[in-house]
Amino acid sequence: MPHLRFDQTTADWVVFAPLRNLRPHTRSAEVSNRGAAGVDAPSNCPFCPGNEGMTPHEIDAVRAQDGTGTNWLVRVVPNKFPALQIEEDNRQTQKGDLFRQMGGCGAHEVLIESPQHDAFLGSEPIDHVCHVIRMLHSRYCDLMRDTRFQTIVIFKNHGEGAGTSLQHPHWQIIATPVVPRMFRHQYIEATDYFDRTGHSLYEALLDEELKRNERVIVTNDEFVALMPFASHLPFETWVIPRRQQASFRSFQESQIEPLAHILQEILIKLYVGLEDPDFNLTVDTASRGDEDEPFFRWHIRILPRLTTTAGFELGSGMSINTVLPEEAAKFLKGGNHTLQQSDSHEN
Ligand SMILES: [Zn+2]
Repeated sequence: MPHLRFDQTTADWVVFAPLRNLRPHTRSAEVSNRGAAGVDAPSNCPFCPGNEGMTPHEIDAVRAQDGTGTNWLVRVVPNKFPALQIEEDNRQTQKGDLFRQMGGCGAHEVLIESPQHDAFLGSEPIDHVCHVIRMLHSRYCDLMRDTRFQTIVIFKNHGEGAGTSLQHPHWQIIATPVVPRMFRHQYIEATDYFDRTGHSLYEALLDEELKRNERVIVTNDEFVALMPFASHLPFETWVIPRRQQASFRSFQESQIEPLAHILQEILIKLYVGLEDPDFNLTVDTASRGDEDEPFFRWHIRILPRLTTTAGFELGSGMSINTVLPEEAAKFLKGGNHTLQQSDSHEN
């Protein structure tokens, strides 16, 4: 049974999900031994058209307007190997003073980004990117109707180095019954800044970055893509809305196309500049109860996996970044193609 345990030493919740062990892996040693018959082959891929029976029931889909109503363009299904499950309860139990645990209540959905096995979001038609974004927003809003869920974590893993188990492009949406510590921490910092200065931290950051224009990569009327001053990873890129919106829930229909454009532009720049790097993409958003507050602002983080997290990071919680964000931004904008990039560092 999935469940959560509370780490009293760090205030982290840890999800225990033994089922996740059973996942098929596209490129694991076990699968590569099976050669062309591995899950990597479209014929065996649970996300390819024709194999819909290999996934649990469909939650939602966007279908082509071709009169048949059968050809899906974007499809959402429950994760077959969920980290958290809707059937579980969120009751907390305590064993002694120190051992607190909670039922693994939540949701874990998969958004299949395209019918095409090797599609890349950066080169899809803009309408298709809009379908994906609109569906992510719709699933976010729908899941938040369940008042047991405190936070919706939306993410995408691209490439083996980013932890993906299936090559077919997809996103994951996980609803959690607790607020993860990172979100609590970000929110406390933003609230503290607001209390001290009377201003929104994210508004101030955006204004300052636009004024300095050293780390801004692309802008449009609704969004700004930039590399943060203290980027934790080389080429870490944020996409932030210009509007004050603490939660992804507040995202408006009129913002979909501008977001699709800026996201594609960044993904293509990373693809070309860094030769299709593995990356994680996350949507950071306010949790339940804080969704309308002025302190926080939802944003997308794209985290290329160019270096390996090792002992120092795990031992200290600090990052070692081998590339200054100013140089990375300049490189992506086309100003410097001689950037020295070390592949890894040892700790
Ligand atoms: Zn596939």
